[in-house]
Amino acid sequence: MRARCCVVGGGPAGVMLGYLLARSGVEVVVLEKHGDFLRDFRGDTVHASTLEALYELGILDGFLARPHTEYRRFRLNVEGRQFDVARFDKLPTHCKFIALMPQWDFLDFLTGEAAKYPSFRLLMNTEATRLILEDGKVVGVLAKGPEGEIKIDADLVVACDGRHSAMRQQAELALEDFGVPVDVLWMKIPKTPDMPTDVLAYVAGGSFLILIDRADYFQAGILIVKGAFDKIRSDGLPKFRESIVALAPFLTPAIDDLTDWDQVRLLTVRIDRLKQWAREGLLCIGDAAHAMSPAGGIGINLAIQDAIATANVLAEPLREGPVSLDVLRKVQERRAWPTRFLQSLQVFIHRQFLRPANPDERAGRMLRFAWAIRTFPILSSLLARIIGMGPRMEHVRTHETAAP
Ligand SMILES: Cc1cc2nc3c(=O)[nH]c(=O)nc-3n(C[C@H](O)[C@H](O)[C@H](O)COP(=O)(O)OP(=O)(O)OC[C@H]3O[C@@H](n4cnc5c(N)ncnc54)[C@H](O)[C@@H]3O)c2cc1C
Repeated sequence: MRARCCVVGGGPAGVMLGYLLARSGVEVVVLEKHGDFLRDFRGDTVHASTLEALYELGILDGFLARPHTEYRRFRLNVEGRQFDVARFDKLPTHCKFIALMPQWDFLDFLTGEAAKYPSFRLLMNTEATRLILEDGKVVGVLAKGPEGEIKIDADLVVACDGRHSAMRQQAELALEDFGVPVDVLWMKIPKTPDMPTDVLAYVAGGSFLILIDRADYFQAGILIVKGAFDKIRSDGLPKFRESIVALAPFLTPAIDDLTDWDQVRLLTVRIDRLKQWAREGLLCIGDAAHAMSPAGGIGINLAIQDAIATANVLAEPLREGPVSLDVLRKVQERRAWPTRFLQSLQVFIHRQFLRPANPDERAGRMLRFAWAIRTFPILSSLLARIIGMGPRMEHVRTHETAAP
């Protein structure tokens, strides 16, 4: 198989990039190792800046016609008291909210739009296994598909294969790891109509519970000390269930549905960043270039902003032919500082609120943060901009050159 561009990974970064390139007339193939988008490791946030990009692309109405929830503020419950950590109603974007849509629906929507362009191909159940190198230059990938091994020759491979990227590892690009003190246990908890849905996270005694409203259930995440899962398992499910209802007592009737550790998934959290995002024939973006933690719910936005910037820089030259390393480096030049800024913010959040071993100290710091947000409303406006738009919001500069 041959394509001008082969995108490895059908997450937010890969699917958005595939769509934008195909819309600009670049022949692109996107490989996704899973057979569907039903992966629970994804967050569900579709940020105001992503909604703005959908508006610029003329597909916002189609997106908003799908079932979703609109969060006009991010509300936390800290030690039983609620406060708005970010209010999105003053954002200078068309949508003054963050949409929550199960990510498989969002990706399904985007791939549906992309499939209208003849130069877009999506290969599901297809896992890139190896980069193909010629004279030190990446010239394609080998992949394992439903019918066996396939070879894809490409002028450019873009690694969008997430925080455990095999492509970046094979490319031997140097990585800086910033260390993270927590992992996340991810599970579904049934929801009844009387349960509150406007609070995104419950914080008490230095513990964090994230609750994402997905119609008839919550996607719930509880932060644990890195490496502590074995101990939590050996302490038993009853104790684990208690730790959840201690944070959100209204979950008491629902928590009994959690009867097996198979219902609980360990997600390892990391924050790292490539020193160089590109080498000849290969570019890494999204978590593959800079793995993000869930702190602040900003990783998906950053991945999509990378994809928009990549298409803005590469679509035109790629339509003409292969692109040089100097051109690939322009993507990193554009996206480096927003990435550094947001990762520094996540490291700061971890250090302040998650790293202190003493739960009372963690709780005290959270309460001081809540007090600061309530006292200085400008802080919640600032956080709304950072979460909703990111520090350098990208606009779609590519044109629809291909007929749908
Ligand atoms: C527990 C947790 C919760 C989070 N919650 C949020 C949140 O609410 N909001 C937010 O903004 N961010 C959140 N994040 C961060 C966010 O998930 C990432 O920053 C974001 O998903 C990065 O998008 P991506 O497209 O770069 O990578 P990913 O979303 O990881 O997508 C990578 C894709 O590549 C595929 N793939 C991997 N290897 C291969 C291969 N070899 N061949 C083919 N396909 C491959 C994977 O199946 C996957 O579909 C969370 C992170 C964690 C760990």
